[in-house]
Amino acid sequence: MNTPDGGGRVPESVIVIGAGLAGLSAAVRLAGLGARVTVLETRPKLGGRATSFDDSRSGKRIDNCQHVALGCCTNYRCFLDRLGLGDALRWYSETHWLEPGGRHSVTKPVPLPAPLHGATLLLRARFLSLRDRLAVGRAMLEAAREDRAALAPEPFSVWLDRHDQSAIARRRFWEPLVISACNSSIERVDQQVALHVLQEGFLATRWSSTIGVPRVPLMDLYEPARSIIEASGGRIITGTSVVTADRRFAVTRQGARHQADRVICAVPFERLRSVLGDDAMDSDRELAKVDMLSHSPILGVHLTFDRPVLRYPHAVLVDQGTQWLFRKDQDGCVIHAVISGADEWSALGEQTIVERVLSDIHSCIPDSVGASLTSFRAVKEKRATFAPTPEARLLRPSSVSQSGVILAGCYVQTGWPSTMEGAVRSGEMAAAVACGVPAETFVAPSLRPGPLVSVLASA
Ligand SMILES: Cc1cc2nc3c(=O)[nH]c(=O)nc-3n(C[C@H](O)[C@H](O)[C@H](O)COP(=O)(O)OP(=O)(O)OC[C@H]3O[C@@H](n4cnc5c(N)ncnc54)[C@H](O)[C@@H]3O)c2cc1C
Repeated sequence: MNTPDGGGRVPESVIVIGAGLAGLSAAVRLAGLGARVTVLETRPKLGGRATSFDDSRSGKRIDNCQHVALGCCTNYRCFLDRLGLGDALRWYSETHWLEPGGRHSVTKPVPLPAPLHGATLLLRARFLSLRDRLAVGRAMLEAAREDRAALAPEPFSVWLDRHDQSAIARRRFWEPLVISACNSSIERVDQQVALHVLQEGFLATRWSSTIGVPRVPLMDLYEPARSIIEASGGRIITGTSVVTADRRFAVTRQGARHQADRVICAVPFERLRSVLGDDAMDSDRELAKVDMLSHSPILGVHLTFDRPVLRYPHAVLVDQGTQWLFRKDQDGCVIHAVISGADEWSALGEQTIVERVLSDIHSCIPDSVGASLTSFRAVKEKRATFAPTPEARLLRPSSVSQSGVILAGCYVQTGWPSTMEGAVRSGEMAAAVACGVPAETFVAPSLRPGPLVSVLASA
């Protein structure tokens, strides 16, 4: 069968190893084109790292960590649409910032052509001095002009040095912005990745930086994938690990051998070797380097108080180790705290983590001091994402391996940091490669930058 674009050929049967967002998006795309897809997944549930669990302490289904999308996540949004979940995210254009002592600032795009829609920062970000706000504004305009493809592999802090950003502006503005999007500090993240997020996620259009928060636990989002895959004769088999795979087969730990026209391997990079084997990894110029990628941890802390604590749907805690709070109920009694790039916190016990988070909350929400915690749960994800360091730029493989196994996963070369958008893009790319058409064929285009952004970029 030809692809909708007329080129290539949809394979009759495909094996997808891994039911994270990369694997599911590839599987749903191919099933939609008529391929019989068998998805093999180790865990009993779908969604990989973007999932939920049933918490024995609270008796509730909670996400491992709050997952947030931005308006610029075009492929993730299209994937939800294909699952029939166009309304699954609640969108917020405002960002709330809470400083020590409780002062509140709210930033929100204003009705000016991009990138001037961010001018509100200059007016409303009281957590920065006027001088810092002007310097941030100037740097944002420079970011809109930057040819990111030409940037050397260097940390984003070097770019900030070039644009005269003060220590306070880095700590209070750039660090929370970049670490939440890239899960790496400004000293660690590749400037190209940081600029990618700034340009696509904040500067391109007024809608780009709108924050999308799932209305339901993440795990409940993916079930429709099952019926789409089954409608074209395929199936999802959970609770089964693949121990060997090649371009046309996969063998599970239970000894079942699955055969197909193409195999897409959508496991995290640290699991690739155990699936593809040493020979396939070491003889492939790109795959031989994948082991050198490193991880960056994220810590999610679920807190329930005996009375309302957080008035806003979410907030950045300025100058604190805890970067974001999300309100998880109507009243603000249930709060989820997120610490990205959480290397320093990784060795801490749950009690110490909760004490630290509470102290950050007390500092920025003074009224919360009298509220008592009725339950808590800290979830450490040590391998939350790959670290998008300058070195990682040279280590991320393309979707095609020499052995003919197709790769998908947020670590594949997409230009994106480890995100749901990066994972879904990689899945779309893998599906295209399976059909023998250029990898970008099914990728939804990025938001088209406003005319003023284009003028700035070409000036
Ligand atoms: C705590 C946390 C917070 C995050 N916050 C955000 C956020 O706010 N916004 C955002 O966009 N992104 C966020 N991310 C990143 C995002 O979740 C990931 O980048 C994305 O989900 C990765 O998807 P993937 O399909 O590439 O990999 P995975 O989700 O890891 O999927 C791989 C799948 O392969 C399976 N597998 C592994 N080995 C085998 C095998 N041998 N056989 C069969 N199956 C196998 C695994 O069980 C897994 O289900 C966060 C991640 C974490 C952990």
